[in-house]
Amino acid sequence: MRTDLVYHDSFVRHEMSPGHPESPERLIHTMKEIRESGLLTEGVQVIQAEPAGLEEIYELHDRAYIKSIQEKSERGGGYYTLDTAVNGFTYTAALHAAGGGVLAVNRILEGVSDNAFVLCRPPGHHAEYDRAFGFCFINNIAVAANHLITRGELERVLVVDYDAHHGNGTQNTFYDTDRVLYIGLHQDGRTLFPGSGFVQEIGKGAGRGYTVNVPMYPGAGRRSYDLAFSEIIEPIAEEYKPEFVLVSAGYDCHHRDPLTMLGLTLDDIDMMNRRLIKIAKRYSKGRITYFLEGGYDIEVVSIGTRLTLEALAGASSSPPEEFQHESDTCISHTKATIDELKKEIAPSWF
Ligand SMILES: [Zn+2]
Repeated sequence: MRTDLVYHDSFVRHEMSPGHPESPERLIHTMKEIRESGLLTEGVQVIQAEPAGLEEIYELHDRAYIKSIQEKSERGGGYYTLDTAVNGFTYTAALHAAGGGVLAVNRILEGVSDNAFVLCRPPGHHAEYDRAFGFCFINNIAVAANHLITRGELERVLVVDYDAHHGNGTQNTFYDTDRVLYIGLHQDGRTLFPGSGFVQEIGKGAGRGYTVNVPMYPGAGRRSYDLAFSEIIEPIAEEYKPEFVLVSAGYDCHHRDPLTMLGLTLDDIDMMNRRLIKIAKRYSKGRITYFLEGGYDIEVVSIGTRLTLEALAGASSSPPEEFQHESDTCISHTKATIDELKKEIAPSWF
């Protein structure tokens, strides 16, 4: 396997405020973990991200909004919301994060590499058309998906988002098209930011049925996620037959994350990765690209990313042993959610 690890130094120079959970340390520790793992001598190579072309960004984001990020950065900093701020490097980092994704998918389309992980900051999945939101400025995975359906001329791109927070920006970008299928597994929006991602949100027009949300009860763990894969993601992938798979990897679905309340272990995250890679192998010629979104326990982000790279590189991995019990309440809540979701999207998939 030839796996690209797409990176850029600007990703660790963007910082929102001292002590902010979305910190440069997340990537600094992750790069250290990867270097020490020996993966960089075993088929994983570091590729320097390039800035995205503005014309591609303007297809998904308001021009004046993007210019406002540039202006704030050039002034040395500024705020969008209380927790989403800009410093002198934010604009450059955001352009390289989005461009890194485009570079990653292009290299895979051209057959130069087999798959990729874009290890970027700032993250992207909460970024809206004209609004920075939830630590995100430009929607990196959406820019890559849009690139695949426009420049790459693909008809079917599957985006799976397992970050604990709903990927509102990604969902909204492709809400009315069937060329990008968004599937989100996240903590129930009644209990966590951004407060969206319910089973009734299924897309509109040609996109009806092509937005799929599986909100999880706080504490949801392996059994719930196993059900989401076997009952929803795998059967839908079999019908949809994606030509490319993109993943929003948010390691804040781990039980130790300080901002969220889900119950997954690193072994459970590894289980999801291996099943997603299997979907890509079965339908998409193995074409899959990961994007780092959230994850605020530094050790979990570091090990989680390393395990994901091992899975992408086709290497074996041994996640640390963790004991995490999922309650019967959680499991029955997930079953009920899945039944309700199936009724909503049945005309498209079941
Ligand atoms: Zn998150």
